[in-house]
Amino acid sequence: MTETMDPMILSTVRILVLVPEHTDYLWYGALLRNNYEMTPDLTWCPDLADCEDLVGNARFDVILWDCVLHGGSELAFLQYLTVAGDDKPVLAVGSEAERLRAPEMIINGAADYLSKGDLNAWALSRAVRCVWYRQQVLDSAQGQLSREVASGFINRDLFFDRLRQALLRAERGEHRLALLHINLDDFRTVNESLGYQLGDQLMLNLADRLRKALRRVDSLMRIGGDELAIIVEKVEDSLDITQVIRKLVHIFAEPIIVEGHSVAVSASLGVATYPEAGDSPETLLRRANRAMFEAKRDTGTSYRFYNRQLHVTAGRQLKLESDLRNALRGGELELYYQPRVDLVTEEVRGVECLLRWNHPDGTLVPPDEFIPAAERSGLIVPIGYWVIEQACQRLREAAERGYPGLVFAVNLSFRQFHDRKMTETIFRIIYNANVDTSLLELELTESAMMHDPEYAQRCLRELNQLGISFALDDFGTGFSSLSNLQHLPISLVKIDKSFVQELGVSADAEHIIRAIISLSHSLQMSVVAEGVETEGQFDFLRQQHCDEVQGYYFARPMPWQQLIDFLEGRNRLACLKQ
Ligand code: C2E
Ligand code: CA
Ligand code: CA
Repeated sequence: MTETMDPMILSTVRILVLVPEHTDYLWYGALLRNNYEMTPDLTWCPDLADCEDLVGNARFDVILWDCVLHGGSELAFLQYLTVAGDDKPVLAVGSEAERLRAPEMIINGAADYLSKGDLNAWALSRAVRCVWYRQQVLDSAQGQLSREVASGFINRDLFFDRLRQALLRAERGEHRLALLHINLDDFRTVNESLGYQLGDQLMLNLADRLRKALRRVDSLMRIGGDELAIIVEKVEDSLDITQVIRKLVHIFAEPIIVEGHSVAVSASLGVATYPEAGDSPETLLRRANRAMFEAKRDTGTSYRFYNRQLHVTAGRQLKLESDLRNALRGGELELYYQPRVDLVTEEVRGVECLLRWNHPDGTLVPPDEFIPAAERSGLIVPIGYWVIEQACQRLREAAERGYPGLVFAVNLSFRQFHDRKMTETIFRIIYNANVDTSLLELELTESAMMHDPEYAQRCLRELNQLGISFALDDFGTGFSSLSNLQHLPISLVKIDKSFVQELGVSADAEHIIRAIISLSHSLQMSVVAEGVETEGQFDFLRQQHCDEVQGYYFARPMPWQQLIDFLEGRNRLACLKQ
């Protein structure tokens, strides 16, 4: 079933109505048709004589049985219906109160029982929808419908079943699993002010929104009037869960629209993880529930982990992200530049732009500490564009200051590379900056390119046509071979610093570096070695005809003004030598 075919809205439900009186049949019809979520297709069966044929007919989705039609014993007739109807759901309607009759009816096979006295269009349609839905879930072996079902009605059994299966998978695959228990704050007030029907609709709209934000594998279920549960499978660490929480918090920050009303809702989220918080569905739910109650103490949408340590880590991560957002807005980010030196002439051929964060607490935060967070939260995309903009500005400035041929290399993260607007945005940036694009180089890792080779090829070609060149970063650490990448417009390979630093320590490193250099050259690619710290490493690389080096041996990454001083210093030195 696809997203667009939402069965809640569009489906035709075929209903066989068993009732002797035609006026009653018309009454049921009127109640059912007064409904915007399904189109009922009704067939009337007034007597037992026709019953057999019709009940056995596979054309019906639901049997609506008015209990006055029976051959002497209600319960016996009900049992007959469930067997002859091949497990089609039977919705029983009788004159007695639900409290008195429902348990017995359900034990004897009815999918639900409604009292005629309380019957109205909403209650009847909802019941039909529920039993019909439930049946579809049972029918679909893989439970494919459960995602849709999730929001449709409350079914704790189904929920526990799914949780149990997810736990088994987690145990087998040695994954972590998170159960999120979500309770809407003060839902009673919502119900009282909007009415129960709209309150219910609000839950559905909300669930729909949540579902769109989750991964396909995560299951969302409504487990109570104002309660939802989400099973998040295959979480590696608390950061993955944080990612889900972030999305949920974001969703609750926006009002929900029901029938033209805009309703602000907040929620309390409780998180319990397997294996930390337990390994049975019941324990996990109880603990997620307890965490949720703790979260209730905070106003607005808030969350709590059952496990304190996870709570602290997640809190830190979310704080880091919000600080980082401010950093971008508040101009706390800065680029440092590390020179790349030609091994033959020892001239500075280019610089790699490396991001730094001047944290308000006075520290300089290195990228390894915040880029993963930026990557996870998606902030890397705007940050990455800021970096390119900044690099382009410096590129122009460098030319004005007398360094016209200096190449500026910028790192592109995986996520940024897969941003749908990437080529367009980069094009806009370089167009506005009016720079010589042949001096702009983008560094990408193998994994960013190999994730979707066709996409990579298209993007690289498009950008390459604008004059931009590409470098393969951290080469040697991934699994692909250069020949896999040879059809891509890559002009440079950067040998990862881990190999350079193993020189003299392991013979393998030497072999690998030699192989990378000779293969790259045979594919017309230049080679830069990263992380060159010693003269020994430098000499070895020169002997192997590596093209350029980058590393502390020549210079550390430095702020812009310092780079200019550095370049001027080297110029002066070169003049003296001549
Ligand atoms: P990278 O692209 O591999 O960058 C090279 C890293 O090696 C830099 O670390 C640099 O300071 C360090 N390095 C250079 N020479 C030496 C050396 O001789 N010895 C040692 N031990 N290290 C050396 P940095 O600046 O901390 O950056 C770390 C990583 O953060 C970068 O690795 C890159 O993956 C990422 N990064 C930095 N800036 C950006 C950015 O603007 N965007 C994105 N997406 N990632 C960035
Ligand atoms: Ca790099
Ligand atoms: Ca690198």
